[in-house]
Amino acid sequence: MYAVISDIHANLEALEAVLGDVPEDVETIYCLGDVIGYGADPDECCDIVRTLGMPTISGNHDLAVTDLETDLNWFNPTAAAAVLWTREHLSEENAEFLRTRPRMMRTEEALFVHGSLRDPDEYIINKISAQDNLAMLKSVYPDVPICFFGHTHVKAVAPSPNGAMSRGHTLDLRSGGPYLVNPGSVGQPRDGDTFASYVIADGESVLYRFVEYDIKKAQAKIRAAALPDMLADRLAVGR
Ligand code: ZN
Repeated sequence: MYAVISDIHANLEALEAVLGDVPEDVETIYCLGDVIGYGADPDECCDIVRTLGMPTISGNHDLAVTDLETDLNWFNPTAAAAVLWTREHLSEENAEFLRTRPRMMRTEEALFVHGSLRDPDEYIINKISAQDNLAMLKSVYPDVPICFFGHTHVKAVAPSPNGAMSRGHTLDLRSGGPYLVNPGSVGQPRDGDTFASYVIADGESVLYRFVEYDIKKAQAKIRAAALPDMLADRLAVGR
């Protein structure tokens, strides 16, 4: 059994709550990238991911912070401000770690990407992008039943399961696949939910886990760090 987490975004309170929730029989925690950016604890979050030995891929924020050649014009002003702040608050060891992760991982059971299978910076946000990536999954990786992706900070499964995605929602992998699964964001959900989310999976099923954390504490740290206020405000509304 393994867990998949994504988009921690330097939110230490959310990351610690999630790690406290992971069941003991989980052998590996895979991280889909964006460990840093937006939140006030980039170094602490990266220390945890690195020292626990989580297989991790580089997200666009991880690379924007650690690759000084990145063109920040691609980021909105708030995100760009967070990138510049984070560059000043990350150890060289952690910067090197984040800069040198792969952009895709594969196990016997699954693929792991940040944005999408065809482009690590693509947002899978609608049926068309999901269908295109499912078609690519089937043709290029016919033996892989599932591809985990992040980047949108929105919990999602394609093709859609029956019923709404809820706490304890279990996706049966033994039929109807392959699937694209977004576990949602640990540190900055954008689907209207304020809790952290992640998934637990084995070869047969995927289970969503929802975790409450100390949002007020994370917000206070963002404000004390003089990061843009909006980055604290949004945690309370999940947008
Ligand atoms: Zn992200």
